[in-house]
This record gives sequence, C-alpha cells and structure tokens, in this order.
Amino acid sequence: MTDETADTVLTVRVGAATDVGRLREHNEDSHHAGGAVFVVADGMGGHAAGEVASEIATETLAELSSRAPRLTADDLATTLQLANERILQGASDNPDQRGMATTVTGLAMVDQDGPRWAVFNVGDSRVYRADAEQLTQLTTDHSEVQELLDRGLITPAEAARHPMRNVITRSLGIEQVVRADIWVLDPHPGERFVICSDGLTNELSDADIRSLVARHDDPQQAAAALVTAAVDAGGRDNVTVIVVQTCVRAAASAAPAEPTTPVTPRGD
Ligand code: MG
Repeated sequence: MTDETADTVLTVRVGAATDVGRLREHNEDSHHAGGAVFVVADGMGGHAAGEVASEIATETLAELSSRAPRLTADDLATTLQLANERILQGASDNPDQRGMATTVTGLAMVDQDGPRWAVFNVGDSRVYRADAEQLTQLTTDHSEVQELLDRGLITPAEAARHPMRNVITRSLGIEQVVRADIWVLDPHPGERFVICSDGLTNELSDADIRSLVARHDDPQQAAAALVTAAVDAGGRDNVTVIVVQTCVRAAASAAPAEPTTPVTPRGD
C-alpha cells in the first residue's frame, strides 16, 4: 500500500497472525492491518464480551484509514476516545457485556510535515521497533507491574513472572475519558515494527522476539513464526502479532514522470 504526500512516499510490507493458544476457549484478541492503520487489541470480559470490546476498538480505528494521508495524531486521540464511548455504550445496552474492556496499541501513518508514524497505546499490548542493531520496546505498559518496576521495587526478571503481571491500569471501556500515549516518529526504510498482545510477550523474551524477526525477511512469515513460537512455549493466552516493515521513503519528484490529471489548486 502507498501513502503519498507532497514530497514523500511511504510504502509498507505487512504480515499478521493470531492464535487462540492452548488453554483459552475463545480468541478475545482482535487486529486490523491495512490502509494507514495497524492495530492489536486484547479484550477482557466474561461470555466472550472481551472479543466484542477488542473488535469495537479495531474496527473503530480501521475507520481512520479512509482519511489517510491527512491523518493526524489528534485524529488518533479522538478515535480512541470514540472507541471507548462505543464500548461503554455496548456494555450499557447489553447486560452480558457489562464490564467488557480492551487494550489497544499500534501504528498509524500520519501527516505531520510529511509522512510520520504515530505509535499509540492504552494497556499492556506492545509495539516494538526492530532495526539492524536492536529491538526496542516503544510503548510503556499501563500495568501494576510496570508501576512497581518504575518505582524500583522489582527487577525486570521479577516482573516477567510476577503474579500481578496481568493487572492493567488503563484500558478502553472502563473510564469515561481515555488516557492514551501517542508518539510521532520519523519513518526509516528497513525498520520493522512488531505489534503484539501479551500472549506473545508473556511467552517469549525480547531476545527471542528479536531473533525470530531477524530470521524471517517476509513480514507474514515473521508474524506467523512469532505466534507459533508463543504457542509452542506454552500458549497460555491468545496471541496476536502484526509485523509492519517501512520499505520506502523517497521524494515523489524522483519518481518517473507520467501523465497526470490536472490538480485543482489549493483554495479553489
Ligand atoms: Mg492477553
């Protein structure tokens, strides 16, 4: 897919995979990977209501794709708030879905003086960035364990097996106003993003994730390999992965000239 602005072109390769895992009956994760938006949501709630919450989140964010390439980080914030309101409304209309909630995280192509990546997060699903040298976690978990880590009360090794590691402090569907983290980044050709639910990160270390991403050139194969490895490692939760590769960021003026339809000048 291609996203053009006045002087740059951003192209991506994408792969996605999901699995219910070995213990759960339902897959309450949802994802969307297309257009200008790449999102993973991990739902919570009884009677498969978590599935409903995560679907509302991904479908609401997917609506943003039709606005590219003029999407802004503010649009993302507004749309996360809209998804929250739809989940709260759904829970209010359907007693079976009361208390449903979801994490949501991902990437969107935004226009801020040219194409940029906006990374967004609510909850403990994650976005990582991998380049030739390293894998970096871009998002910060909104979780009890992260707060203990931040206060220096536990070590990363203790966090990985902490009994409260599934307790999140932010989500969509609980409070009236969403507190979302949003970062805007310059795109770099060759970088790859891993967007995932905690079913991946509770089973695999960052080193495992890094080596699997490096081993598979094709983003679809990388996403499938990550999900398979998490299921093989225990599969105690639903696991969902999207791999997005930034392929090209080139000046449009460098593209071969071709006949075009006359463009209406701005302001008309
Ligand atoms: Mg999960």
